Amino acid sequence: MTFRSSRRELLVSGAGAVAALGAGAGPVFAGQADGRKLGYAIVGLGMYADVILPRFAECRHSRVTALVSGSREKALRYAAQYGVPESGLYSYETFDTIRDNPEVDIVYVILPNGMHHEYTLRAAAAGKHVMCEKPMANTAAEAEEMIAACRAAGRKLMIGYRSHFEPANREAMRIVREGELGRPRIVTAETGFNIGDPTQWRLNRALAGGGSMMDIGIYSLQAARYLTGEEPVSVSAVESTDRSDVRFREVEDTINFQLTFPSGVVANCVSTYGSNHNRYRVVGTDGWLDAEPATAYNGNRLRLRRGRETVELTPPALAVNQFSGQLDHLSQCVMTGAEPIVAGEEGLKDMRIIEAIYRSAREGRAVTLQA
Ligand code: NDP
Repeated sequence: MTFRSSRRELLVSGAGAVAALGAGAGPVFAGQADGRKLGYAIVGLGMYADVILPRFAECRHSRVTALVSGSREKALRYAAQYGVPESGLYSYETFDTIRDNPEVDIVYVILPNGMHHEYTLRAAAAGKHVMCEKPMANTAAEAEEMIAACRAAGRKLMIGYRSHFEPANREAMRIVREGELGRPRIVTAETGFNIGDPTQWRLNRALAGGGSMMDIGIYSLQAARYLTGEEPVSVSAVESTDRSDVRFREVEDTINFQLTFPSGVVANCVSTYGSNHNRYRVVGTDGWLDAEPATAYNGNRLRLRRGRETVELTPPALAVNQFSGQLDHLSQCVMTGAEPIVAGEEGLKDMRIIEAIYRSAREGRAVTLQA
């Protein structure tokens, strides 16, 4: 059986058939950047920096030229591995002198959440553009200050929302927003993992800003927003945390939250530090789209149901990977003057909604969001 989509024709031979993803899977930015590679300084050499650093090898417009770490020994080791000169190594104390390093165009803040605000402000004061990891900050007020500081310095600010550069998620956005499921009705999104070491910064309120919602629930929130392309008008949330569990003395474990959007579509979302989840589903009047895993580093899978057929959509083998796509996007924006598709304002929207989710859970009532 054959069915048509707006941009491609899928050949379907029954449930479980495989089809290539469509145009949504291509590179995000096709502007006229020149051939230079802009220099990135990576701040904080932890787990996620280990994911990002190898991906510069696949970048067309970005390279790593500086490292900022509390450990000189670690910085020297990483410098040798990634070809960073010793003149590009900084501690947190010497970080501000990065202003004198012409090899650094962009500072990438990959620190605990509670440090994002300070290092974004210091990077902007040093005249550098900023990539900041999610969640953007501990509070919406901090996020506003970060946007203002970068704007005052005439520098770009982008948030590390990698799913916007990931082929399966881009295709999912396209399918939903172009109406291939008919009118979207219900989104379900679940993200979580069983968190371990009770002494880690993710369980420290000052360094993390909150619990699972700040760290992993934000992926469910993002998915609900980028799949529908709408902003929620109200939220209601219920928290469930065992305060006798040593891990949850300061931050929450599980939050179930519901978002209502202007068109009437409703998103039911789970955020948890107690069990493993990484999936979303959009159900429309004419079918559904299912993603699992949905926002993994690789291997994300989509299944599309329309009529009586279910097809598995596979990303093209040579699609730009989400990490180098994200890094090059900011470099291209700096070179062309364009705004990043996930600028600071996008991070601020999430911070405002997260604060409303916490408030709803605390007060036991639905919270209306400002348009
Ligand atoms: P890690 O704990 O693995 O690394 C954080 C690094 O920050 C440390 O290794 C350390 O680097 C530095 N640091 C400075 N001060 C402190 C402190 N007081 N406590 C702990 N670390 C400190 O965290 P992750 O790499 O997992 O997370 C960092 C950020 O990246 C977070 O905001 C997180 O939300 C985000 N993230 C994003 C992901 C994504 O997919 N977009 C995935 C994972 C994380 P050094 O020793 O060099 O000083």
